[in-house]
Amino acid sequence: MNQDRIDVLRAVPLAAFQHVINGRRVCASDGGAMSVISPVDGTVLTTMARGTREDTDAAIAAARQAFDSGIWSDVAPAVRKKILLNWADLIEANALELAVLGVRENGTEIGMALKAEPLSAAATIRYYAEAVDKLFGEVAPTDPAFLGLVHREPAGVVGAIVPWNFPLMIGAWKFGPALAAGCTMVLKPAETASLGLVRLAELALEAGMPAGVFNVVTGEGAVVGARIAESMDVDVLVFTGSGSTGRRLLEAAARSNLKRVYLELGGKSPNIVFADAPDLDEAARVSAHGIFRNSGQVCIAGSRLLVERRIHEEFVEKLAFHAASIKVGNPLDTATQSGAVNSERQLRQNLQFVEEARGQGRKVIGGQRILEETGGFYMSPAIVADAAREDRVFQEEVFGPVLAVTAFDTEAEAVALANDSKYGLAAAIWTSNLSRAHRMVRKIRAGLVHVNTYGGSDLTIPLGGVKQSGNGHDKSLHAFDKYLDLKTAWIKL
Ligand code: NAD
Repeated sequence: MNQDRIDVLRAVPLAAFQHVINGRRVCASDGGAMSVISPVDGTVLTTMARGTREDTDAAIAAARQAFDSGIWSDVAPAVRKKILLNWADLIEANALELAVLGVRENGTEIGMALKAEPLSAAATIRYYAEAVDKLFGEVAPTDPAFLGLVHREPAGVVGAIVPWNFPLMIGAWKFGPALAAGCTMVLKPAETASLGLVRLAELALEAGMPAGVFNVVTGEGAVVGARIAESMDVDVLVFTGSGSTGRRLLEAAARSNLKRVYLELGGKSPNIVFADAPDLDEAARVSAHGIFRNSGQVCIAGSRLLVERRIHEEFVEKLAFHAASIKVGNPLDTATQSGAVNSERQLRQNLQFVEEARGQGRKVIGGQRILEETGGFYMSPAIVADAAREDRVFQEEVFGPVLAVTAFDTEAEAVALANDSKYGLAAAIWTSNLSRAHRMVRKIRAGLVHVNTYGGSDLTIPLGGVKQSGNGHDKSLHAFDKYLDLKTAWIKL
């Protein structure tokens, strides 16, 4: 990464951002716009269209028309593949510009943003584009007097509502398989992470994607998101975000056309360290990064550390050392390891958890607002070294750089603590005991269980939660299941 180039890009003034609907950039139907505040320094970066119900309806109508026309859904998969690969190439060619734009808007450190955002979005698009002409239907092994065929057909118009952390990566986990499968889409980005997705929609048109196939409407969740959820013309709704919004989407689907709803919600993921972990220093280093990278704004963040009591004190010390050595600062400096918290509201929320733990007499290391003079939203990593299972910091998702540490004595107690959560997204076990590792993988209720590592999984494995962390899976070939319907033909021969 070239700091000089980043410095040029970070100073580029940004024109107002518009929706991308039916192949064109358009303003909000009532001319409304909202300010985009940069968490880097608290200044107004630009404005973007404040979507209305009418804008959303126009985007849904465009997606419906594009789908029903067959221009995308009813062509040879290889045709879609070619355009998707062009798109991925364009995204890669513009990767640094896209990454800097995203960082200016949502505060993720540039090193991670470049890799996890445009480059990961391009890789995801390629993965599904390459796969789509290798998906076969089935011939049923039935009575020879009949022929039973199982086709896989694109499910229709997909509504996608995505959050502010990793908008391009999480967005691509949805539009990659959906568009490759032949669906069309209306995507609504989060209020504080929209700009990169608007640019991606513009690049899709440049790559040759037909008008109406991929539409992006910016604005408020309660207006644009709610309208997508209640639409009679959206067939599938995919979402990443909070549980409270997820509930609203399910209600809206029930009230409207019973669209299928796939939710990827939050987590309170347990990271369990046994005294026999292969390398406690490495475990502490990876665990610190597993919660504190991107200011803790990672859905699978290991936000509950469960540690065997006899190494509790020693491990917390190691952890505190690694936490203190994470360089928090301007996310556009290449040396920064953890950037700004996404918004002032999120920062306040994080600090409230820390204050509450202090007020309860818990031992808290770090967790201060820092770099206030920059005008940006920064805080140091916080470790609550002796959290109890009834504490809010143990039970509730902070979605910030705040780690709750709790000691355990036995394997059974570790499992009980790990499963004492309404969430079930991710977990980790650190141990040299192979049998214990396998036992724990089975017993822990989570969609993803790491062993002797945290994070870093690639596209080949699915990501999804159990319990109140959601349903359905992003990533891997399983993601196609959400966007392809089975249709059977029963033919008398
Ligand atoms: P959020 O639910 O407030 O917002 C997510 C999206 O929903 C945004 O685009 C928002 O505009 C929209 N929205 C808000 N209200 C809406 C409504 N009434 N109707 C329709 N849409 C609405 O969540 P957030 O604060 O943006 O994201 C953080 C949350 O997302 C955290 O809880 C985090 O754990 C979760 N998350 C989960 C995963 C995962 O893979 N499971 C990944 C990233 C984030």
